[in-house]
Amino acid sequence: MSEIVDSPASVSVVNPVVAVVGRPNVGKSTLVNRIIGRRQAVVQDTPGVTRDRVPYDAEWLGRQFTVVDTGGWEPDAKDRAAAIAAQAEAAIATADVVLFVVDAVVGSTNVDEAAVKMLRRSHKPVILVANKVDNQNLEVEATSLWSLGLGQPYPVSALHGRGSGELLDALLDAMPSAPRVVEETERGPRRVALVGRPNVGKSSLLNRLAKEERAVVDSVAGTTVDPVDSLVELGGEVWQFVDTAGLRKRVGQASGTEYYASLRTNAALEAAEVAVVLLDASEVISEQDQRILSMVVESGRAVVIAFNKWDLVDADRRHYLDKEIERELRRIPWAVRVNISAKSGRAVDKLAPAIRTALESWELRVPTGHLNQWLTALTQATPHPVRGGRAPRILFATQPGVSPPRFVLFTTGPLDAGYQRFVERKLREEFGFEGSPIEIAVKPRK
Ligand code: GDP
Ligand code: GDP
Repeated sequence: MSEIVDSPASVSVVNPVVAVVGRPNVGKSTLVNRIIGRRQAVVQDTPGVTRDRVPYDAEWLGRQFTVVDTGGWEPDAKDRAAAIAAQAEAAIATADVVLFVVDAVVGSTNVDEAAVKMLRRSHKPVILVANKVDNQNLEVEATSLWSLGLGQPYPVSALHGRGSGELLDALLDAMPSAPRVVEETERGPRRVALVGRPNVGKSSLLNRLAKEERAVVDSVAGTTVDPVDSLVELGGEVWQFVDTAGLRKRVGQASGTEYYASLRTNAALEAAEVAVVLLDASEVISEQDQRILSMVVESGRAVVIAFNKWDLVDADRRHYLDKEIERELRRIPWAVRVNISAKSGRAVDKLAPAIRTALESWELRVPTGHLNQWLTALTQATPHPVRGGRAPRILFATQPGVSPPRFVLFTTGPLDAGYQRFVERKLREEFGFEGSPIEIAVKPRK
């Protein structure tokens, strides 16, 4: 697999990509349907007529991968057919494994032999699929495909499913370490870090929440909670506020050094899934606030920004605050915001829904089909600008992970930073992600 460019370290797990290649009508889309297990998923079209490369999520024996259906490949094709062939070659270039499909009933043709040459040049692992072997009598036809020089042909009936288990087993063997599907386990309360510079009102808020809800609970059945954490019931749900031991005792007390405070903040973020960043709405957003916001952004956690001390905000201050927010929070316009007062209790009931929104975005998974439909429309309407006579194209995208959502764009070359930001902005416009950072990595084909 090629290097992932421009990506944070966490975007290292990309599902392996499998390209399905072959002449028109050999049964590629039928096979893709068989692999993804949803008969209706692939749009059937007129034989030989193009379809765009479309990736689908697939899974076999708990391993996930992406299958890319390609239009029929033909050598020396002209016009439209040439475009399809080029698309198929691009799909091969981005793939980790190629399923080369041949119609076993027809046997190998000149076109198949030309395709084999092209596949050899790609240096990708190729699995030879002898399709339309609907019954045992047809298996001899499959055997004759050894002559293609691609090793063992796998006799399959994409239509009826015959032999597809063996094929998928062989596919897994040929794939680079496919990420394992992690079993959803029963999880404890969601973990929240309450962060902010000294005196923004963290202890006051925690005390308010505990008082308001009359419930800092000591334990939740089946979970062990670190003694430095607090379990707080809020909006009908128990939340685990991490690393709050210091806060609970400390109301009114002088605060530690900033160095110590930032270590504390990082530790809390590390332990949490979502950060509630407290800012003092009655004062200007300071450098220290900015440093904490940077830590929060770096941590990749879901984010709620709570403007505290709202009881002190008058019309004048409000006016300046709006401008300040625009200027100082430019890096995280996507954070969920709430205006609260720990002192009066104003709007503290908005916190739980805000945290839920942020966490939902943080764990949002966009189905690959939907993602690519949207991407195709976007890149057609606004292609990458031409640079030095060439414009890199985005071939397709996958979302290999969540918490936070991570995307990989498979492209024909590196993208401009500006265009990448444009894609991110549009991605947010389409799918939301309010309260969550998203990561986008670009994987140019080699
Ligand atoms: P593609 O152009 O390579 O994607 O081929 P399609 O998947 O559209 O299939 C072409 C035709 O072959 C369709 O009429 C399919 O129903 C048929 N077909 C596909 N797989 C099989 C198979 O395993 N057995 C038989 N008998 N027909 C098949
Ligand atoms: P921490 O250092 O972030 O834990 O902040 P504290 O909770 O100790 O609060 C610092 C000071 O701000 C205390 O004097 C609080 O009474 C005051 N304070 C906290 N929240 C509010 C609020 O919503 N409104 C007002 N007016 N004062 C607040």
